[in-house]
Amino acid sequence: MSRGGLRFWSAVLAFAVFLVDVLTPLEGAVAVLYVVAILLAAKTHRRNDIVAAAAGCSVLTITAYLLSHDLEAIASPALRALVSLAAIGITTLLALQNHAATKRLAAQARLLNLSHDMIFVRDRRGVITFWNRAAEHAYGWSADEAVGQHADALLRTAYPDRREVIEAGLLDIGRWEGRLEQRTKAGGALTVDARWALQHDHLGKPVGVLETHTDVTDRVAAHNALVLSEQRYRRMFDASRVGVVEEDWSAVRTALNSLETGGATLRDYLARNPEFVRHARRLAGITDVNPALQKMAGASGSAAFVGNVDRLLGENDRSFLGALVAFAEGERFHEGETDLVSLDGRKVPVLFTITFPAEPDGDRNVLAFVIDITERKQAQDALLAAQAELAHAARVATLGELSASIAHEVNQPLAAIVTSGEAGLRWLRRDVPDLKEVATTIGHVVAQGRRASEIVTRIRTFLKKASPQQDLLQIDEIIEEATLLIARELAKDDVALIVKTEHGLPPVRGDRIQLQQVLVNLLINAGQAMSGRPGSRTVTLRAGTVDGENLAITVEDSGPGIQPDDLPRLFDPFFTTKGGGMGMGLAICRTTVEAHGGRLSVESSPGSGATFHLTLPFSQEHALP
Ligand code: ADP
Repeated sequence: MSRGGLRFWSAVLAFAVFLVDVLTPLEGAVAVLYVVAILLAAKTHRRNDIVAAAAGCSVLTITAYLLSHDLEAIASPALRALVSLAAIGITTLLALQNHAATKRLAAQARLLNLSHDMIFVRDRRGVITFWNRAAEHAYGWSADEAVGQHADALLRTAYPDRREVIEAGLLDIGRWEGRLEQRTKAGGALTVDARWALQHDHLGKPVGVLETHTDVTDRVAAHNALVLSEQRYRRMFDASRVGVVEEDWSAVRTALNSLETGGATLRDYLARNPEFVRHARRLAGITDVNPALQKMAGASGSAAFVGNVDRLLGENDRSFLGALVAFAEGERFHEGETDLVSLDGRKVPVLFTITFPAEPDGDRNVLAFVIDITERKQAQDALLAAQAELAHAARVATLGELSASIAHEVNQPLAAIVTSGEAGLRWLRRDVPDLKEVATTIGHVVAQGRRASEIVTRIRTFLKKASPQQDLLQIDEIIEEATLLIARELAKDDVALIVKTEHGLPPVRGDRIQLQQVLVNLLINAGQAMSGRPGSRTVTLRAGTVDGENLAITVEDSGPGIQPDDLPRLFDPFFTTKGGGMGMGLAICRTTVEAHGGRLSVESSPGSGATFHLTLPFSQEHALP
């Protein structure tokens, strides 16, 4: 009820009592009921209202008495009126005292409202009886909403321990402190540091609990983030394959600060005073090293390193000077290369980066990251060795290729020389030697000998990368010469050679002997592939045109064909499937054809022969229209 209402009803009640007093024969007894009117007025918590109500009721009591009895009769009604007045007086006094106490309490409560902490009072059952401003602000419920609610249910408090244990402790020593998780009205989570104090009544009986809560949500979150970051760093530190050394350079800083350089720049001074650099090495303390570095240095724990960097760096280390200059000049990091000395005295080549943090305590948190480059160094050495070997091998291979090519290509004319020589001998050994035939065979021997010598010359020019002859050549002539050269060999193996040449093919530009050799090689290979095989042995050589610009020659045999696995390597030098083969023929053919601007390829399905396709560009001035 509002103050106005209370005043009104207080006045109405007083007047009603007055009327009853005057109009009924109760004779003053009813006047005791004025007490109720005063208590009503006291509810306004205004001292003046109490005093006014008391004065009003007293006046009404006396007035009623006078109206009913005038002044003469001073007997029991008068006594009753006095009792009533006394009751009014006592009630007023009590009401005033109560008012003063309430005012004191209100002042104290206002003080509690000034606090930044959330403060509330709950009774023994947990029901909130007081709720300060900060609690309103932090939790979101107004005092009106919170008072009367059950604190735990309202705030959904999560305790670090069982609730009963906490309550028992509180009852035992009268206080409790701990960290709680609570929820705001909006559902947000709050972490609070709680301090509870037990309230007792004048008999020492616990009546309520004053709970003071400090919101530490942000602080806890920041702390957790810090812990997480520290954990992450630790994980990196422990699991990294990069060696990490934590160092404290604060003593180095002190030594640098007290250094008298005599006008020289620090860099010059340090370069000229190696004893100071050595001294500084002993001042740079190691606080921890990670497992990767321990492994690098052949240690099984970090204890062996805790000391200074001096024992990690070799006698001849120059990298510390660079790091020291960078540190002195306020650089944030320095990179370098050095050798670490492992516990067993081994030198470990490493790359390192050392960081000098900028924050105030940065000198104590210097970090060096170290990568072992032993393997890289070894790989580099191995690479250099391999390169040298390769260069050597290339020289040997060139020589080998040269001799292999010569051997391969002159084999055939040599065989022909032997055959002609033997034939000549037979003519000579006749009873009547046929000198004419002898002369012919000697002529063959001389021609084949010349050819062999020409082949050798061509191969040497070829391998020296000198340009080959560029004669205008008719392909049918070349085919004829080539077939003549190997006719005897094919006949020996019972191989039939079919040649199908289009008429009027334009000439190509190139080296007669080299192109002859390509055809000789392809035809000999075909013959060898079919040699000793049952069935018909036929080689078909076709020559025609493709797309008006190129001459196309195919050499097709009815041999065993080529295994698919062998196809990709067929043209590689030294690839052979023959017992006494050299594997040079096709390699030479392809290089020769490509040097003439053409292409050489093969197509084969095993069991049904192989077909070699050769294209050569027509000489420009004779290309078909
Ligand atoms: P070589 O004759 O010394 O073996 P080549 O370079 O001339 O060297 O030939 C390489 C390989 O190609 C031969 O060993 C053979 O396996 C295969 N080859 C070449 N021509 C034919 C063919 N007409 N039919 C089947 N295989 C062939």
